[in-house]
This record gives sequence, structure tokens and C-alpha cells, in this order.
Amino acid sequence: MADTQFSNEVQPFSIEGANVRGRLVRLGQAYGDILGQHDYPGTVSTLMGELTAMTAALADSLKYDGLFILQTQSDGPVSMMVVDVTSQGTLRGYARYDEDRFSGDREIDTAVPHIMGSGHIAFTVDQGPDTERYQGITALEGASLAECAQSYFRQSEQLETAILLAADTTSKRAAALMIQKMPDTGERVEQRLKLTPEEDDESWREAVILMSSMTREELLDPGLSSLDLLYRLYHETGVRIYENKPLKFQCRCSEEKISATLASFSAEDLADMKTAENLIVATCEFCRTEYAFDDDALAALRGQSSQK
Ligand SMILES: [Zn+2]
Repeated sequence: MADTQFSNEVQPFSIEGANVRGRLVRLGQAYGDILGQHDYPGTVSTLMGELTAMTAALADSLKYDGLFILQTQSDGPVSMMVVDVTSQGTLRGYARYDEDRFSGDREIDTAVPHIMGSGHIAFTVDQGPDTERYQGITALEGASLAECAQSYFRQSEQLETAILLAADTTSKRAAALMIQKMPDTGERVEQRLKLTPEEDDESWREAVILMSSMTREELLDPGLSSLDLLYRLYHETGVRIYENKPLKFQCRCSEEKISATLASFSAEDLADMKTAENLIVATCEFCRTEYAFDDDALAALRGQSSQK
């Protein structure tokens, strides 16, 4: 009966009779592929699942052609996490963490102030070399990643946002449910319903309350499709469904890109990087692919860069 294949998609929707838009993201294979490249402790895997699903939800709510990047930097056991999503729907990510802090059966408090410590979260839109890069940065404020993002939107974008995140490292499923109150200023103003401020606030509150009734288990239940979940939540008010978009893991590293990076190092630095086999081995942090360069390859890439 139930399809056991968990989808990899973002499903946009809006709530009837309210100025509320949303995104539901569910990741199965794509999340498994991100974890498959690494051997993260369970807590780190969970955080990666939550961050990946959240990044995909936020990316889909933005108009951009290129790359959307969410990156955290902090002083706790998990010191850095990054996820990027292209406008084509490919995503990747990785985390840096202090292995000693996760060794053995040590109990880790998973609240953001403990696991990530203090630091910031950066939202970046990169649409290519000839365009202006947009970046918003905010302090990590909140007990969870969802709370940190909510506070960013409230403070920096004046955009009321509610986010629910879930990730299960055993079944390799991650999900994000996000709703946003459409602002009454800006480009989308003509798409708003004409509600009084009180009606507007009331319908937003109702949408948030309904959303908070969704459990983590439901979000990750492979027997419920994205549409099942949204109808279950918002059938009384009515929910409008837009075209969904498939998501998948894909790294964008290449020998060419790694070469360009190596070419920017000095000859001395490159000599220091050599292995006993007289190779320089560069590993992509996202997908763990190794790129090896011998002396001939290095001479070639240095020659290329000096001709420029
Ligand atoms: Zn890679």
C-alpha cells in the first residue's frame, strides 16, 4: 500500500484565505548520499539533515539563478556546517566537528548553544561572477537551527517565518516544513489578499498553530506523501499546491576547480603539501573525492597560471 520510497523534493504551497506561503521539503536518497560520503557521529548527521532540508526550503522561496548557501561558523563541538543548493535542485554539504568531543558514549546536549556554541549563520545568494553577491549574517540565537533561522528572518528581513525540522539518521530521512507570512510591502504586494491587519495576524497565528501540530514522525513517514501531509494539516482552511521540484545530491567539484585553487599557492607551499609519494592530494570536503597531482601535473598548472 504505502510507498516506501521517501521522496526527494520541495513542495511549494499557500494557505487559502491567508497571506501565508510555505514549502515542504523531504529528502531520502539525497540525505543518504550526503551522509554516505562521511562517517559523522549521530548528532552531527542529524544536524546535517536538518540544515540540508532547511536550506532547500529557503532556497526554493528565493528567486535566484545560481547558488544558495547556508553556512554556520561557531566555537562549539560542531564548528562549521555548510549546505549549498543550486537553482537546478542539486544540493551538497559537509560539517566540521571536534572528534574528541564525540568520542565514546559521551552525552552531547543537542541544543544549539551547546552543540554549536556561539557564532553565526550566513545566508548567501551567489548568482555568478558578474552579479552582486547577497549575504545576510546573524548570530546563532535559538535552541535549534529552526529557531536560529526564524530569528534571522524576523530581525533581518522583517519576515515572519515558522520552521519545523526533522531528521532520522537510521532511515536516512530528513524533512523541513516552513511557512512565511507574505509581507505587505515589496514586490509581491499585488498577490496579497486584502485582509485587515487583525485578519492577517489571526490567519498567520492559525497557520502556525496547525503547523505545530505536525509531529516529527509524520514529517518523516514514508507512508504519507507531501500532499497527504499538507492536506492533513490545512484541509480545513484549504491549501493550494504548486509545482514540486525534485532535489538530489550532486557535488560540483572537478579537477579543473581544484587545479585553479592549487595554482594560487606558492611553490614552497605546494612543496610542503607533498606526500611521501611526491604527490599533492587534494580531497573535496563535500564528496571526499581525491584529486592527485604529480610533478608534471603541477608544472602544467603552474605554467597555465603564469601565462595569464
Ligand atoms: Zn566534491
